[in-house]
Amino acid sequence: AANLSLMLQAFPFGDKRNLLLIQDVTDLQKADAMRRDFVANVSHEMRTPITVLMGFLETMQSLDLDKAQQNQYFDMMMSQAQRMKSLVEDLLTLANLEANTLPAPMQLVKISTLMALLKNDAEALSQGRHAFNFDLSSTANLMGEEREILSAFGNLVSNAIRYTPDIASISADWHLNERGEGEFSVTDTGPGIASEHLSRLTERFYRVDRSRSRDTGGTGLGLAIVKHIANRHQAQLIIESTPGKGSTFTLRFPKERIANSVD
Ligand code: ADP
Repeated sequence: AANLSLMLQAFPFGDKRNLLLIQDVTDLQKADAMRRDFVANVSHEMRTPITVLMGFLETMQSLDLDKAQQNQYFDMMMSQAQRMKSLVEDLLTLANLEANTLPAPMQLVKISTLMALLKNDAEALSQGRHAFNFDLSSTANLMGEEREILSAFGNLVSNAIRYTPDIASISADWHLNERGEGEFSVTDTGPGIASEHLSRLTERFYRVDRSRSRDTGGTGLGLAIVKHIANRHQAQLIIESTPGKGSTFTLRFPKERIANSVD
């Protein structure tokens, strides 16, 4: 605010160009504040697993543990290292997406192949704890960047798994709506999300329940990644949720990105 009033004094109102310059300064300040927040968040997210890892190492150094206890510690250390790895991978994915402001290329993405991959990954992640219903009601395919589409769809499916209690069911489906747009939806019967959180879910590191997200291996970056991938494909991310009942996350692709099946 101090900088802003300084600019106002230097460039009195009435000159359009100067007013634009003032606007730019506030935008820059906002961008700078966001960057500082982001760096603080990343540092915090990294420091936590490092601190826990060091705690385990110190204990192992000072105590004479038997083989079984050692193995238990190694497992716990591995999971902290895994957490750091996921965070770094998601940060790199996000940085690459942010650096690339071009629309995604128009390459053929075969949805049936993609859905088979998704189902395999989902079953591996769930380890038999959920029932899956993967439905391909359209044979239409997508035009886009395959790795990104797999990552966006995969993030929505893995969120559904991570936030849905055991035994409950999860469904994913691909269909064309009445306007010919392609919709990929994932529906879970998890805790749902209160409406005041919905608009903030795609912010980096925004979580409704911090400890729950961490416990399930979340980095807090998944939906930010999904949102970027959606933007690059001119797709919309639609979130519908009823607290206590579950959520549906939908990615809606424009007609221009739909390719009718050739086989
Ligand atoms: P995280 O790694 O924390 O899951 P995301 O960016 O993927 O990060 O999601 C942001 C937040 O949105 C999560 O922390 C969680 O609170 C909420 N969320 C995402 N998906 C679901 C879901 N299927 N059910 C309930 N809450 C969800």
